Amino acid sequence: MDVGASPGGGSAGSRGVVGFVGLGMMGSRVAGTLLAKGVPLIVHNRDRTKAEPLLARGAIWANRPGQVGRGASAGVVFLMLTDGRAVARVLFGRGGLAAGLAEGSSIVDLSTIAPEESRKFATRLGKRGVAYLDAPVGGSIGPAERGELVIFAGGDTVPLDRVQPLLEKISRRVERMGPVGSGTSMKLVNNLLTVGTIGLVSEAVSLGEAFGLDRSRLISLLRVGGGASAMLEAKHANLETRTYPPAFLLPHARKDLKLVERAARRAGRPAGLAREARRMYDEALALGHEREDFSSVFEAARLRSAPARRPRSSPVSPDGSGTPAPG
Ligand code: NAP
Repeated sequence: MDVGASPGGGSAGSRGVVGFVGLGMMGSRVAGTLLAKGVPLIVHNRDRTKAEPLLARGAIWANRPGQVGRGASAGVVFLMLTDGRAVARVLFGRGGLAAGLAEGSSIVDLSTIAPEESRKFATRLGKRGVAYLDAPVGGSIGPAERGELVIFAGGDTVPLDRVQPLLEKISRRVERMGPVGSGTSMKLVNNLLTVGTIGLVSEAVSLGEAFGLDRSRLISLLRVGGGASAMLEAKHANLETRTYPPAFLLPHARKDLKLVERAARRAGRPAGLAREARRMYDEALALGHEREDFSSVFEAARLRSAPARRPRSSPVSPDGSGTPAPG
């Protein structure tokens, strides 16, 4: 259905139509959950083909983000986009969302971006009387499909209260973290652990293989040992079979580690492990895994070899005689 037509189900008028921009792996599923729970949607995605299944279920299509703003009569628009640059483009680019939004509307940004980007968007939109809420999510495509995400929400109480019933439809827990930027801060800390864990697991398993241990057996033992984790449980089959069906794309995981590094630097904190993990993700990208799940970082770990040992240099005397200098 195109913008201008009335939404399916006929109930949109009473509750209002909600906007949704960004129908990638996560956004398409979150939007699908909202539709399934009776929320009428007006949607846009750069690549329209990804919207087709939702349009077939009654969602309204908008050609531009600005049309989503104008068509979202509930005064709420969700974003689920790759990064801060994509969010800036959708909000403030040509035909952008911000220009189409009525005063008093709220943007609920589910994307994982930098906390300072969240604050910048909130300030810019605030000047138009539009509230910006950072609401990045924990959980991947399965929880998104089942409406069981965890939401780390940042922003003012009034707009958060207003969108709370919608957030509850897509999640099993909504955690209010504080002012704008605190949701994205929490998400970065969370992802240092999730993305970093898979880097460390990859190094551990590939080291075990280098020791001559059977991969399946060592993974099954890691799963019952002290290093067991939710991430190992979620991704062990990928490592066992060395197949990486996309759930959370490798470049997005790499992006998150880069965001952690930058945010840590701003906070004057070391992030050495994040940096080392990010280098391993860089190597996996260089190997061509950009359309695969982030657990394909295992391939980079397997290819890593120990740095060649430097031969010990013999002590050299200042006069070149071979007799070391005293001292
Ligand atoms: P995805 O499948 O790659 O989707 C990215 C979305 O952003 C697509 O709709 C894409 O449009 C859009 N986009 C990218 N650049 C754009 C631009 N310049 N202008 C307009 N639209 C643009 O990624 P995803 O897995 O859904 O992730 C979305 C966000 O959620 C990311 O911030 C990610 O870190 C976060 N996240 C993901 C997971 C997960 O498990 N996948 C879990 C938690 C959080 P096109 O379709 O037209 O390319």
